[in-house]
Amino acid sequence: MIRYQITSRNPAGHYFDVCLSIEQPDPAGQVLRLPNWIPGSYMIRDFARNLLDLAASANGSEVLIRQIDKSNWRAEPCAGPLELRYRVYARDLSVRAAHLDLTHGYYNGTSVFLEVAGQGDLPCEVVIEKPAHAACREWRVATSLAAIDIGEDGYGLYRALDYDDLVDHPVEIGSFTRIPFEACGVPHDIVLTGRFRCDEARLAADLARICEHHIRAFGEPAPMDYYQFQVLIVGDGYGGLEHRASTSLIASRDSLPQPGETEVSEDYREFLGLCSHEYFHTWNVKRIKPAAYHPYDLQQEVYTELLWAFEGITSYYDDLGLVRAGLIDGDSYLELLARTMTRVERGFGRSRQSAAESSFNTWTKFYQQDENAANAIVSYYAKGALIAACIDLKLRAVTEGRASLDDVMRELWRRYRDSGNGVGEDEIQVLVSELAGTDLGAELDAWIRGCDDLPLPQLLADLGIEVARRPAVGAKDKGGKPAEGDLPRVDLGAIYKDDVGGLLLQRVAEEGSAQAAGLAAGDIVIAFDGIRLNAGQLDKRLLRAAPGERWRVHAFRRDELFEVELELQAAADSSFVLTLGENPGAACRAWLGIE
Ligand SMILES: [Zn+2]
Repeated sequence: MIRYQITSRNPAGHYFDVCLSIEQPDPAGQVLRLPNWIPGSYMIRDFARNLLDLAASANGSEVLIRQIDKSNWRAEPCAGPLELRYRVYARDLSVRAAHLDLTHGYYNGTSVFLEVAGQGDLPCEVVIEKPAHAACREWRVATSLAAIDIGEDGYGLYRALDYDDLVDHPVEIGSFTRIPFEACGVPHDIVLTGRFRCDEARLAADLARICEHHIRAFGEPAPMDYYQFQVLIVGDGYGGLEHRASTSLIASRDSLPQPGETEVSEDYREFLGLCSHEYFHTWNVKRIKPAAYHPYDLQQEVYTELLWAFEGITSYYDDLGLVRAGLIDGDSYLELLARTMTRVERGFGRSRQSAAESSFNTWTKFYQQDENAANAIVSYYAKGALIAACIDLKLRAVTEGRASLDDVMRELWRRYRDSGNGVGEDEIQVLVSELAGTDLGAELDAWIRGCDDLPLPQLLADLGIEVARRPAVGAKDKGGKPAEGDLPRVDLGAIYKDDVGGLLLQRVAEEGSAQAAGLAAGDIVIAFDGIRLNAGQLDKRLLRAAPGERWRVHAFRRDELFEVELELQAAADSSFVLTLGENPGAACRAWLGIE
């Protein structure tokens, strides 16, 4: 048994204090290490940079501890129990690390719990202590860790099966609102932290429908006996991270359903989609995993081409789950799908990087995007979701509705729910062909490992869905809806916003008008044809411009003024609009789960 004790000792200074006790340390000198990344967020984050004041002792005497590298230490040989004390600086307000101040505490085990090398398979006990600070008097604990002996406020003793389990149950400590509900007999809690107004009954009822939908889609019983949605409400934020029996989310105040409202606002729809996404991961990636993640090596990058499936299929089912659970209608769902198609279509990177390559390089490219990202990469989330849609519709078409992606997921669940193994890199493609009853290998390979456009518009049209395309109207246009008013005939080839001193070019499209003229991301444009235009004025000016028109542009790069001539290119039809039509056919209704 490995024993941890964690205290929010100094909330104002953002410090968690941790004590770790090892009964039988390695006689050759115990090695201790902290993960460099957290599962679900594929970037080296070097959590050890926040570890301070590490000291070791055994039987009342100090034990020398030496650092081996950035995240590993070795204590000199000693008789147990070996005790380690350290402190973790926690001021990352995200779902990936740890945060502590006078408003609340939150941590992932990967940020705060040193792993005892060679003893990662041992069960762990954690005592979560109540902070002594007067400001924390009302604070309670929320976590999906198994409680062994806790008080009403949640402080006390918890247990984990092993280190992997220990670091997969984030802990929220604060004065939150807890909203309970049941899904297929499994108790769930929504834990809301922050300042907000919310129709709590509606939120619980809507999440229950989503959860029941996903549980039934994979087949009862649910794989967990308790589940917790931990939501940190902020003014403006969006994000989530999946865990085996919980998820941590960050959402904006506006995304919660307000008392008295009955419509599903765009913000609330996005929030429900996020909850649906993380919940789907309870199966897809937390239990059905790439073989490369068995077990996780949290010291270094782990490579797989399969994130198109683990994030893409999850992204496909997150919104599809909303229409199938009856929370949004078919047109609302098609708007979301059309936006995903638009997002992929607008990046030059889609013709340069495949979904498989995007997955493989997630560590250095997807998670480290710069101003050139849209030109260089494709998102394995968005492209992966479209590949999932293609697989689903193709399977339905070739089997005349007898098989679908639902069957692929159920079969993967059957294979991997208890196996302790992971999905092979080509396994899903082989499985799809088996279910199709015909070899789709070459086609699937082109979708997953190629850069040609996907056949999704045709597959949707075959279902009777009207697929239309139009140019983008301004930088805020996400596609999915018909344009209100005039359509531009030209495209500047840049994303811009108002900035001090002029118009800042945030991103410049490869081979677009702006790049061809010599403009680059970071340039501040001060005049078009001798006239200063703000972002709104430029939007309007572009609506009236014709392809081939030439503009004289004055701009600053760093502190140097320059002038270029820009020739406006014709606008591409980069926005998709999908319409269900009056009488959707049986195949279409079966796909969307609508009447
Ligand atoms: Zn995800």
